[in-house]
Amino acid sequence: MSPSTRPLEGQTAIVTGASRGIGRAIAQELAKLGAFVAVNYLHSKEYAEQVALECESFGTKALPVQADVTKPEDVTRLVETASLYLGKPDILVNNAGIASHSLLIDTTEYEWNQVIAANLKAPFLCAKAVLPIMIQKQYGRIINMSSIWGIAGGSGEVAYSAAKGGLISLTKALAKEMGPSGITVNAVAPGVVDTDMLAGLNPEDRESLSQETPVGRLGTPQDIATVVGFLALPASGFITGQVISPNGGLIT
Ligand code: NAP
Repeated sequence: MSPSTRPLEGQTAIVTGASRGIGRAIAQELAKLGAFVAVNYLHSKEYAEQVALECESFGTKALPVQADVTKPEDVTRLVETASLYLGKPDILVNNAGIASHSLLIDTTEYEWNQVIAANLKAPFLCAKAVLPIMIQKQYGRIINMSSIWGIAGGSGEVAYSAAKGGLISLTKALAKEMGPSGITVNAVAPGVVDTDMLAGLNPEDRESLSQETPVGRLGTPQDIATVVGFLALPASGFITGQVISPNGGLIT
């Protein structure tokens, strides 16, 4: 790739939940665009190591970093480790998340707290940890992984919808706070994407979700990574506080 096709060269990205699924594709996309990438994971050490190798095959540096992004001390260590080995972060992708499938009347307080922690508290903690660095640079890109259910609300996914909807509001408010510091904050709200997160669906459910989607298929992790890569570009500096929803037309 020529330098002109590596617009993120010299930049460092932290991608949370990058060991599998959408996060893995995002890490690869940012590496392809030239960024050094911190590949965060919770449990999947071997997968994260593999993703880091895949990133490095694009001629950049990548580092797997274990951290539970719902814990402030882990988030501090994640940002310090990335800064030390790869450089101070220019890009944060808050991708880590967990799903939950239960009606509100069956949702326990424990389950509610877990879902809010992974999908809403973690982006707060990670943004808070990188912002002093980005403010000092007067540059940054924060991209938060929401969901169509954060826009439209999903039956059987009230806690998840609330967390992802909250993340959209966080995005819009933080974009206003950080605009003057050269930092953009955007949300990506995917439709149904074929990852481990869909493991609970039986083949019939998957087929009917594909058919309900106007483009006639489920999304791929790369469909989402392409949007994230675009938002991460220096040239995307006039886009902030926005929600972009790659969803195959499922909601409009
Ligand atoms: P996935 O395949 O289940 O992968 C989840 C990733 O998050 C894994 O890398 C996991 O790490 C990591 N993770 C979970 N909790 C974590 C924590 N506390 N600290 C650090 N890492 C953590 O999920 P996915 O489908 O790629 O989803 C990625 C994001 O897109 C999520 O925010 C999800 O809500 C959102 N999304 C997904 C869909 C979809 O249809 N798949 C649609 C809309 C939005 P380990 O591998 O170590 O467990």
